[in-house]
Amino acid sequence: MNIILLGPPGAGKGTQAQRLQSDLGMVQLSTGDMLRAAVASGTELGKKAKGLMEKGELVPDDLIVGLIKDRIAQPDCAKGFILDGFPRTEAQARALDKMLAEMAMKLDQVVEMEVDEKALTERVVGRFTCAKCGTGYHDSFKRPKVDGVCDVCGSKEFTRRKDDNAETMKTRMVAYRAQTEPLLPYYRARGVLKKVDGMAAMDEVYRQIRAVLAGA
Ligand code: ADP
Ligand code: ADP
Ligand code: ZN
Repeated sequence: MNIILLGPPGAGKGTQAQRLQSDLGMVQLSTGDMLRAAVASGTELGKKAKGLMEKGELVPDDLIVGLIKDRIAQPDCAKGFILDGFPRTEAQARALDKMLAEMAMKLDQVVEMEVDEKALTERVVGRFTCAKCGTGYHDSFKRPKVDGVCDVCGSKEFTRRKDDNAETMKTRMVAYRAQTEPLLPYYRARGVLKKVDGMAAMDEVYRQIRAVLAGA
């Protein structure tokens, strides 16, 4: 099964994608993570993306589409994938349709994660991640069981994203409203859009997503 998790920054896409990946073996495809890896390793793509990401603006469609196209073509994606942070514009959505058709693949569900705007900034500002295994945490909503130690891999190193601050969040929300929200009617018209309550606790959001997938 191939799905999209669609929602604003901080909605919980990465959190839910990680859980689906570990329970169901679907592959999480996060364009944000791919871009951050490109920035960290200083590739051409990384150099082009860095400044835009720090400002909270979107990276140009052609760069993102190339990135995801190469990734979807890899054999592990045949098990099913979760798109997290892609598509983010109508041009990306159309490019996705085209590449899936070319590869004889199909999009099964688009899960909209709805969260109040006020809660999003709080989520993003408190977010941190294990530097070693990438498990996501939150200062208030998901602390490691032992302070300062990753639950999954035992690492004591964590990272915080440079763009996870209240100021950049404003730009990211403007980009979301203007460029990504129009994807909701795009997918609704095709009958693949299902909404879950992103304000609920993480376990409840997960339960709702599993129910959507079970009905697919
Ligand atoms: P969030 O957790 O806010 O949803 P992401 O990790 O998905 O953020 O993305 C971080 C940044 O990477 C975005 O603000 C944007 O600059 C860039 N980015 C990620 N995915 C895309 C995409 N599909 N199209 C354009 N830019 C993207
Ligand atoms: P996205 O990938 O959509 O940007 P994340 O999954 O990284 O969002 O979640 C953003 C932050 O909010 C993380 O620190 C995460 O631990 C926390 N979070 C995720 N889901 C919930 C939830 N349902 N309730 C409270 N906090 C949450
Ligand atoms: Zn870890």
